[in-house]
Amino acid sequence: MSDPLPLFARRMDQMRPSTIREILKVTAQPDVISFAGGLPAPELFPVAEVRAAADEVLAEHGSRALQYGQSEGYPLLRGWIAEEMARRGIKAAADDVLVTNGSQQVLDLAGKLFLNPGDVVLTENPTYLAAIQAFQTFEAKFVPVPTDEHGLIPEALPELIRQHRPKFLYTIPNFQNPTGITLSAARRQALARIAAEHNLMVMEDDPYGKLRYRGTEIPPVKHWDEAGRVMYASTFSKTIAPGLRLGWVVAPPEVFSRMLILKQASDLHTSSFDQLVAYTYLTRHDQAAHLEKIRRAYGERYEVLDGALRSAMPPGFSWTKPEGGMFLWITGPDQLDALELLQRAIRNKVAFVPGRDFFPAEGGRNFLRLNYSNATPERIREGVGRLAALCRG
Ligand code: PMP
Repeated sequence: MSDPLPLFARRMDQMRPSTIREILKVTAQPDVISFAGGLPAPELFPVAEVRAAADEVLAEHGSRALQYGQSEGYPLLRGWIAEEMARRGIKAAADDVLVTNGSQQVLDLAGKLFLNPGDVVLTENPTYLAAIQAFQTFEAKFVPVPTDEHGLIPEALPELIRQHRPKFLYTIPNFQNPTGITLSAARRQALARIAAEHNLMVMEDDPYGKLRYRGTEIPPVKHWDEAGRVMYASTFSKTIAPGLRLGWVVAPPEVFSRMLILKQASDLHTSSFDQLVAYTYLTRHDQAAHLEKIRRAYGERYEVLDGALRSAMPPGFSWTKPEGGMFLWITGPDQLDALELLQRAIRNKVAFVPGRDFFPAEGGRNFLRLNYSNATPERIREGVGRLAALCRG
């Protein structure tokens, strides 16, 4: 007889390894064209500039960069982020900014702060897989909000709030992961109003807002949040590099002070070195020009992907038309089993993420998420050719 398992916590009962991580292991081989994962284009990372910033930090502020720092974050970086918030239409002082270990940590802190076992989180359906995981850690119950091509439908919220007494709503208004859908301005305003009227906390997750390659920018939900119900999270992962693990949250004071306590308990503070390097990089280089380069590349890749799909996919498949970000979402015929398609795709050296895991509740067998930020236009065309042949077959 094998030894009994250690007495793990009950929360582990519902934790599952991410299928994306499993798929990524298979797709690491260079001959596989991968639309899986969610990796930014590595050739656009500002490696030389970050290296120069790191050299400067170590030469000028070496001991500060290697010392413990404040839990709130490096003051100058918090100030830079506050100015960035103003550019996005959010009024925030440096003191309102909590620097975190990626925006993923904000999701963990929000879960810790609000969720007792069985508490309800409202989400888009589908939604970001690692947000589902983060909230599952606290044994959350997920209730999907009805959505259409303009994002979640705010008018559905009052009834859901009445029925389920949710602790918060989690939303990704810009170029959502996984669908690429953007929440319209009117709906953002309506959401802020309903949140105020019904005392609903909103976790607004915005990692992709700066990656708009067409259409006009829409202010965040937080822009309309006069009642202090919205927690706004963003990150440098898509605008500098994800390996830095630098994100932030701007939250109402009563939320901020408690998140800070939880952050202290969790990791004391975000890496001093990374924060100083990021701040130095941000203040020495033209961010607008760097962002423009990323937007142009992703916009081009999206056009190539959309064009290749249009010319090769069989009838019965449709897909979203994102205006930014890194993902496109394909809806297949009702009978499609995307997991089975993936098995065949991997044998044919092309990969994607089946949609199932992005649905916190039931459903979702016939969906595919395609990432287009991490492959060159040539590989995108070749990959779609392989995928479409399997979908036809
Ligand atoms: N939220 C969403 C919607 C994401 O897609 C991601 C990254 N893929 C994150 C949060 C986490 O990003 P990071 O921790 O790198 O800031």
